Amino acid sequence: MRVAVISDIHANGHALQTVLGAIAREGVDELWCLGDTVGYGARPNECCAIVRDAVHVCLAGNHDLLALGLEVLEGDFNPDAGASGTWTKAELDELSVDFLRTLKPEAHLERAELFHASARDPVWEYVLGGESAIATLDLTEAPLVLVGHSHVPFAIVLVDDELSGSHAPAGTEIELGPGRLLCNPGSVGQPRDGDARAAWLLVDFAAGLASFRRETYDIQATQEEIRDAGLPLSLAARLGHGV
Ligand code: ZN
Repeated sequence: MRVAVISDIHANGHALQTVLGAIAREGVDELWCLGDTVGYGARPNECCAIVRDAVHVCLAGNHDLLALGLEVLEGDFNPDAGASGTWTKAELDELSVDFLRTLKPEAHLERAELFHASARDPVWEYVLGGESAIATLDLTEAPLVLVGHSHVPFAIVLVDDELSGSHAPAGTEIELGPGRLLCNPGSVGQPRDGDARAAWLLVDFAAGLASFRRETYDIQATQEEIRDAGLPLSLAARLGHGV
């Protein structure tokens, strides 16, 4: 089975369409999304509709919950994120709300365990390596664990209590086993590792390989949409730098 893993789309319709085009060319069996379909960007309803129709498993992220007015408070977010959350909440149509309300921040599948953030705190904790990675691996059993939330693609391998690996730039390929693998596919709609291209992960269970991919998309068009929507200008600017 071949699975495409996407995360943190953040209402970036151009990045999402481009990534789904690349995924279609690969011909995968399933598509999994680790959450934060909305927030920050200007196309939340378009992204919800596409994700609802395309994915087999989709998680809720902290920005999805904020847009629904659930569980999280605007005060938990930085000012730009809070402002975009307020904008998104007003913008979401009924279909998007109905879709987002069905989602949970974690999923336990036959081949993998999925969390928006971490196993310890599926909504909020950033896993970037070290203790946070060990804690998530300790709380799970699947050979493959997938997290989003930090917008930084990484691959961490645990073999005989030894942890190794880190940032996974474009073209990184990691074998599934020996040992267990903890991966973040990176962000489709707001990458933060200095590479502005949209990120996704291809997991080929039969070949035993995880491949980190990046796609060039129309950043300028996305920036214009953000400015036209009256969202904070910094949310447009950061897309050009991948931060
Ligand atoms: Zn996010």
